[in-house]
Amino acid sequence: MADIAAPAYRVIPIIPALKPGAMEGKGPFIASDKIQEAIGFPGQLVEDWHDRAIAKMGDLLGKYRSLKVYMDACVHCGACSDKCHYFIGTQDPKNMPVARQDLMRSVYRRYFTWPGKLFPWLVGARDLTREVLDEWHNYFHQCSECRRCSVFCPYGIDTAEVTMAAREILDSVGYGQKYSNEIIGKVHKIGNNLGLPAPALRDTLEGLEEDVKEATGIDVRFPMDVKGAEVLLITPSADFFAEPHIDSLIGYAKVFHATGTSWTLSSMSSEAANFGMFIGNYEQLRKIALRIRQAALELGVKRIVVGECGHAWRVAYSFWNTLSGVGDGADETDQFAMMLQKQLDHRYRQPMHICEFTWDMIAQGALSFNKEANDKHIITFHDSCNVARGSSMGGYPGGQFDIPRNIIKAVANNFVEMSPATTHERTFCCGGGGGVLTDDLMDVRVKGALPRMEVLQQVKDEHGVNFMACICAICKAQFTKVMPIYGFDRKMVGGVHQLVSNAIKLGAK
Ligand code: SF4
Ligand code: SF4
Repeated sequence: MADIAAPAYRVIPIIPALKPGAMEGKGPFIASDKIQEAIGFPGQLVEDWHDRAIAKMGDLLGKYRSLKVYMDACVHCGACSDKCHYFIGTQDPKNMPVARQDLMRSVYRRYFTWPGKLFPWLVGARDLTREVLDEWHNYFHQCSECRRCSVFCPYGIDTAEVTMAAREILDSVGYGQKYSNEIIGKVHKIGNNLGLPAPALRDTLEGLEEDVKEATGIDVRFPMDVKGAEVLLITPSADFFAEPHIDSLIGYAKVFHATGTSWTLSSMSSEAANFGMFIGNYEQLRKIALRIRQAALELGVKRIVVGECGHAWRVAYSFWNTLSGVGDGADETDQFAMMLQKQLDHRYRQPMHICEFTWDMIAQGALSFNKEANDKHIITFHDSCNVARGSSMGGYPGGQFDIPRNIIKAVANNFVEMSPATTHERTFCCGGGGGVLTDDLMDVRVKGALPRMEVLQQVKDEHGVNFMACICAICKAQFTKVMPIYGFDRKMVGGVHQLVSNAIKLGAK
């Protein structure tokens, strides 16, 4: 950390000068045998990795039509090239989205197209050599799968999907990433990313009940494993212990308390995050999602509400229905999915985001606030990439942008937007998403945060902004770590429900 410095702010907008090779060798740690094997991947790079990787690529091209379209459709117009925060921050041309795709496209052309097989030099086709494989490991782990580039691509080419495919191929030959795969193993074994066992979780929740009682004089409960509760809350495990995440957990509990909603957490399924998406592996994605279904069935809940976590909400909103049967379009041949469909109360959206829950309650007049409690804050809102570009809220397009902002405005008096070129569907990733939130990628993380830090500085200078709210555990963890490097106070970042918690009137009806 000591030798990592923040890049200088740019005059906006500017296309970065190129620094070829700037991020070569800056990729993540490789997963150990133990980590790989624990989740069913080969422990080390297999001897026949070349043939296996090409076979896996063929398999994915057959399975995901979109991947084949992305490999064929790019016209190299360059519209995406300066849209990636990692390219902007690192200036390494291989971090341009189109160049990142080309790492795979060049191999695709060599093995899956006739011109590439016959005249590779004419069409930019490359053999899959060990150097190319290393390059994949390096640069496909400098992508947070945030999909900003796809917003600007005239063909809608989604680099995130290319990154996921590359990571899946790498895992299949025993060349995985330590951080994501280790975390997936912990979820399978213990139920959450942190490896926090049930007794420790119970202690934490009891401690929180005491803290809130001391601060407010009111018995706000943080229940766990309560059969027959109305709501099962699935939230990122960072909410249980990390700052500022825990302040949002307190906010959710206060909302449930103030609205008289019976709710519970699950010790077996104490994690909203699903890193199966980051590594592009359907089986891991499904296995993690099924823990949530099991908890919902065992506890007999009527509703499933998801806490502040960006990619978790994307997985819940976009994939839970076919993965586990939560939501519309569940697999009718899956008896457990059908049992869950029967159990859940379909008068409510399933699943529901905690922001949707809170905003519904505010809109119905079921909550009241002392907005002045947040007067010390001049607040802005960072749209988290997975929420912005991979989900919705409120049952209408754009609800994912309005609802968190509506809540902030309902609980606080001072709200300022950042530059529109960097919010809503054009938002920048925090720099730590998609499996990048690890200390071995700290250089990439710091540099990738540059575009968000620049506009935050702008609203700080122009409006005195001193609090950036967000609804993602990864954004919170990333910003608290990198903001001090840019000269900001790490306490400037927090959750939307942290603001709710500050202002909510607990005794009111
Ligand atoms: S990090 Fe985001 S913008 Fe950059 S290449 Fe990946 S998906 Fe595209
Ligand atoms: S914007 Fe789309 S078509 Fe143009 S270079 Fe990027 S990926 Fe290719």
